[in-house]
Amino acid sequence: MISRRALFAATACLTCAGMLPAGPARAADSSVPHTSLSPDQALARLLEGNSRFVADSPMAPAIDSHRRHDLAGGQGPFAALVGCADSRTPPEALCGAGLGDIFTTRVAGNTMTAPAVASLAYSVKALGAPLIMVMGHERCGAVAAAVEFVTKGTRLPSPMMAMVEPIVPAVRAARHLQGDLLDNAVRENAKAVAKALRENAAFRPEVANHRLRVVAARYDLDDGKIEVLAG
Ligand SMILES: [Zn+2]
Repeated sequence: MISRRALFAATACLTCAGMLPAGPARAADSSVPHTSLSPDQALARLLEGNSRFVADSPMAPAIDSHRRHDLAGGQGPFAALVGCADSRTPPEALCGAGLGDIFTTRVAGNTMTAPAVASLAYSVKALGAPLIMVMGHERCGAVAAAVEFVTKGTRLPSPMMAMVEPIVPAVRAARHLQGDLLDNAVRENAKAVAKALRENAAFRPEVANHRLRVVAARYDLDDGKIEVLAG
């Protein structure tokens, strides 16, 4: 799904451009500290926020002028999230997060482009994010289009096939599973993106040191729950 060469090139590009530190990671702007949360604590905070969202008692996220002023000189998000561009899946709303909390990349089908990988590398290495969540969602239109392409050969008009093509391997993998093909493909797609990120050279040191955790998840449009996926 993600070209190893593209991922490596994306990170190298950031380093060459001076955006990433060559030595130990520091915040791009030291006026805002890195989060002190561990990867597991960051995940727990996302899920706690989601539980409150599901229960209709959402957290009061910090989005006021004080928070805005505190962040004007820098950022130290406690999580990075790869999400779908779908208007029903805004991560901050689903997790009760405020300004400066989640570093987000979103494209339909929650897949990776080289600039998105570079952005995630920046969030981890320069901003200290200890967690990347790759979040697919129920009845994702981009994944449904990939299912239509694999099962019937139906192609979306150009340029929309570029959104579909990275999802095709996940659909092919899902065809071997029992159950609903679309939902299985949503899960396989999120897991494949998370696995590719974990195994990418850009993130391997942080993963090996337990300073970064990369998890796959599925958001349920009906009940609002974010489910962390195994594997
Ligand atoms: Zn979607």
